[in-house]
Amino acid sequence: MNIKQTENKYFMHTYKRSDLVVKKAKGQFLWDDKGKKYLDFFTGISVCNLGHLNNAVVKAAVNQLSRYAHVSNLYYAPAQVNLGEALAKKFNGKVFLSNTGAEANECALKIARKYGHQTGGRYEIISFNNSFHGRTVFTLAATGQKKFHDYLKPLPPKFVFADFNDINSVKKLINKKTVAIIVEPVQGEGGIFTSTKEFLKGLRALADKHNLVLIYDEIQCGVGRTGKFFAFENYGVKPDIVTLAKSIANGLPLGVTLANKKFGELFTYGDHGTTFGGNPVSCAAALEVVRQMTPKFLNKSLKTAKYLREKLENLKKKHSIVKEVRGLGLILGVDLKIPAAQIAAECLKKGLIINCTHNTVLRLLPPLTITKKDADAAVKIIDVVLSQVK
Ligand SMILES: *Cc1c(COP(=O)(O)O)cnc(C)c1O
Repeated sequence: MNIKQTENKYFMHTYKRSDLVVKKAKGQFLWDDKGKKYLDFFTGISVCNLGHLNNAVVKAAVNQLSRYAHVSNLYYAPAQVNLGEALAKKFNGKVFLSNTGAEANECALKIARKYGHQTGGRYEIISFNNSFHGRTVFTLAATGQKKFHDYLKPLPPKFVFADFNDINSVKKLINKKTVAIIVEPVQGEGGIFTSTKEFLKGLRALADKHNLVLIYDEIQCGVGRTGKFFAFENYGVKPDIVTLAKSIANGLPLGVTLANKKFGELFTYGDHGTTFGGNPVSCAAALEVVRQMTPKFLNKSLKTAKYLREKLENLKKKHSIVKEVRGLGLILGVDLKIPAAQIAAECLKKGLIINCTHNTVLRLLPPLTITKKDADAAVKIIDVVLSQVK
């Protein structure tokens, strides 16, 4: 059996994989089992933001692994505490470390529910249509896409959904039972939609007025992807809680929930926990990620982002099937008038890894380390593939 047949035989059929068998990866490139080289403009759904095998990140992780991999959260691991300190200071609050994005959100939502429990039995949480918050039952309930809900009904109560960038639709949903709002400052899975400043300001005002917990899910758009460490820094509108995962340890699993002073004090012993959360190897890698995300580095990546964006806008002028180019920094979507999966598949054949999300959107999540030359190469491939569409 070849690898595809073996996977098909022994794995649950949850992923629709392309034929790519990855042999090795370095920086913005990866190679398949036949030695073919690819330009990776997806970075594992915005995971390896510093490129594959960033030297200093690998060194930090290996150094920790040579001491120990795990000791339990009942003891102190310096690598974990060092990272927690760095992140908590960045947000000016307190941190909880887990393993994945879904868990990071689960923690945020549990804090919100505890707060609701303490303040009159409130439990309704407002989320948004087109959002994505994870694959556990509770975070799927928070996800505003019907296709994820079908076989899970009845869902755990109670999430209600407003329209993204429409503050009036949020106002209409607020009642005595409402306790929180969860939002992605840039919707990823839902098709790359960027919130407006007025919208986030409006959410902040509503949260303050009605004593709600404002949660930003920055699992896809955080950690430098928008040109700032936190995406919300572009807006100057701070949440009560922010969640990170995907890219925070540049490829190793780690989930982060950061809460301001008020909500960071809400959990007490026994309220929450996880065996693997804040794995020391992941934490050592993540501390190096944080260290490398300097304003200088991020500004440089923004320049490349601007260059790439202009090139993509040019594709729109050239190809009538391109409807819109959207995004912020290096989380970019090219919305087509046709299904995008076939286009992404053709790009892969030509050596460019991009993704299709929300049916018609080409999603580009390149490493923040790409050069203008990489941007040229990627856009050239997309250009050729779009030219072939009849
Ligand atoms: C990927 C993602 C999640 C879920 O993260 P996992 O690590 O897959 O559990 C949650 N929210 C957003 C915005 C994401 O992009």
